[in-house]
Amino acid sequence: MGTDCLFCRIVAGEIPATVVRETPTTLAFRDIDPKAPVHVLVIPKEHYADVATLGQGDPALAGELLATAAAVAEDEGLLGDGYRLMFNTGAYGGQEVFHVHAHVLGGTPLGPMLA
Ligand code: 5GP
Repeated sequence: MGTDCLFCRIVAGEIPATVVRETPTTLAFRDIDPKAPVHVLVIPKEHYADVATLGQGDPALAGELLATAAAVAEDEGLLGDGYRLMFNTGAYGGQEVFHVHAHVLGGTPLGPMLA
């Protein structure tokens, strides 16, 4: 995708980010505008627009993304109290950046999902 995609530019090192975990295929970095005490975004380095195209296009990579998200949750100390893993998808889903990303949210009770 390249220069038009914000998260591809983070992968390329063109835009700074606070990276908390990196694997050969995935990258996890702190959200610039955190909605919870822990708010990390986990992305595949390869560009897929959303979780549907990732899941259908490369299920193995989708699994690697979930494994990285789980490792982030563990690193951030979220496994005991729990956390939220969220993929906003498309306009009605509230997706703003069209490079698939999992939100790892935790560190406080998050309440009902749509509250
Ligand atoms: P979405 O609404 O697409 O699911 O979430 C996009 C997320 O990306 C938002 O939580 C937003 O704060 C975050 N974000 C937008 N621009 C940047 C950026 O330049 N750097 C980082 N680290 N996060 C960003």
